[in-house]
Amino acid sequence: MGIACVASRAQLGLSAPRVAVEVHLGGGLPNFSIVGLPATAVKESKDRVRAALANSGFDFPAGRITVNLSPADLPKEGCRYDLPIALGILLASSQISMPDEILAGCEFYGELGLAGELRPIKGVLLAAAHAARESRSIVVPSANATEARFAAPRSTCDAATLLGVCELARSGVRAEINEEADVPEFAAGSAELDLADVRGQAAAKRALVIAAAGGHSLLLVGPPGAGKSMLSQRLPGLLPPLAGDEALDVASIASVSTRGFAPTDYARRPFRAPHHTASASAIIGGGPQARPGEVSLAHRGVLFLDELPEFNRSVLESLREPLESGVVAISRTARQVEYPARFQLIAAMNPCPCGYLGDPSANCRCAPPEIARYRARISGPLLDRIDLRVAVPAVSSEELLEENAPESMTSAQAAALVRAARQRQLDRASKLNCELAGKEIQKFCRIDRAGRRLLAGAREKLSLSARGVHRVLRVARTIADLDATNPESHDAKNGDPASPIAITHLAEALQLRRAID
Ligand SMILES: [Zn+2]
Repeated sequence: MGIACVASRAQLGLSAPRVAVEVHLGGGLPNFSIVGLPATAVKESKDRVRAALANSGFDFPAGRITVNLSPADLPKEGCRYDLPIALGILLASSQISMPDEILAGCEFYGELGLAGELRPIKGVLLAAAHAARESRSIVVPSANATEARFAAPRSTCDAATLLGVCELARSGVRAEINEEADVPEFAAGSAELDLADVRGQAAAKRALVIAAAGGHSLLLVGPPGAGKSMLSQRLPGLLPPLAGDEALDVASIASVSTRGFAPTDYARRPFRAPHHTASASAIIGGGPQARPGEVSLAHRGVLFLDELPEFNRSVLESLREPLESGVVAISRTARQVEYPARFQLIAAMNPCPCGYLGDPSANCRCAPPEIARYRARISGPLLDRIDLRVAVPAVSSEELLEENAPESMTSAQAAALVRAARQRQLDRASKLNCELAGKEIQKFCRIDRAGRRLLAGAREKLSLSARGVHRVLRVARTIADLDATNPESHDAKNGDPASPIAITHLAEALQLRRAID
């Protein structure tokens, strides 16, 4: 009777610790048990493995089969262990053999169908990224092969059936690996929505560029149909493309999510727009499998919350933690799982319950207490974390129909400004202005005496909290950075990235901080 060990990996948040699948065949009464804290799915894999082995023409060994998924204290779920368990049984019963160096340097993933076919699993990209980092190769179901090759182009093998994997093992997995392969082709940045397609709304477009340049959160307030969603959807097109590791992180989150990974999304800035009826676990993450929520799916991209006051209050409150720290912790029975959630928040709301307050062409009949109640649905602490607020009024029919409308900035032009302004920030502090902490604000957001007077007056008038003042200073820094990158600016030759903030920059930041009235 024999023993065998096959390597695989579990998934915990964005980590993928190694799991050893040990199989022992012993004498005695027929019995098949899996130990190592397996979830229900792993128990069910017994039946699938048994059927797959029989239907692939192998013998199911008589006697006592013990499968140990080690380390035992690691929670395990999903059907990904079917393939390593089946291989372990075949190896332990000497029905197949594999060279030791392959067993030691290769990992196996896949769910088995009853006929022996290999079915795709969730989270392959994450596992592949970890395996590649440790110079190990992986064998995955063919349906997962494209996904795995984004993270491990040179060390991925795939097969469609259990027999296919046995064939690979016989020929030596290494021989099947393409050492020259590169990350699959993907279409990044194509067919973006263009800023120039939005008519009018100069103030909102300016706010959008400032938000993009400094990573600031933004609230758009205006009547239905004014273009709030159109504007928000154009933000990802103003941001620089994702760099290598960022792209891999974003793809890994998608890979372990319910929706799964889509190759066309690779290296794109995510844009997530959950509906206001979405539950807290859909937004923050959770469920029995501790899947990532919208805040993590929007990592390194944009989270757009339309109709902000309609969201459940507890959902809005739970946004405060990721907005501050850039991570979310999801608790479940065994342990806490963390996912990154560094997203840029763009929110939109109507000015009043009916939506037409202040609109000259439509009558608003909302009573002042109704309006106050509507706005009070967004708590002060959340509103305090939104850096920029801008009115998006209805576009007049003249503006819409005018043939010779003044040319609007295109997304490509705006993205160039944003890129230059971001470079100044990275040169100065190795981070974006939205991430500057207390000491750094003192150091990099210097204002002169007149600026301090303006800020003190505005603080009283807008009843700004200390956090609010910091946010105004960060935005003013971004406006100054944008100004310095503008070729027409008198400041253009001033290459000093720590140059002081002018009073006009501060005044614009304060204007964008004002409560919408
Ligand atoms: Zn109204």
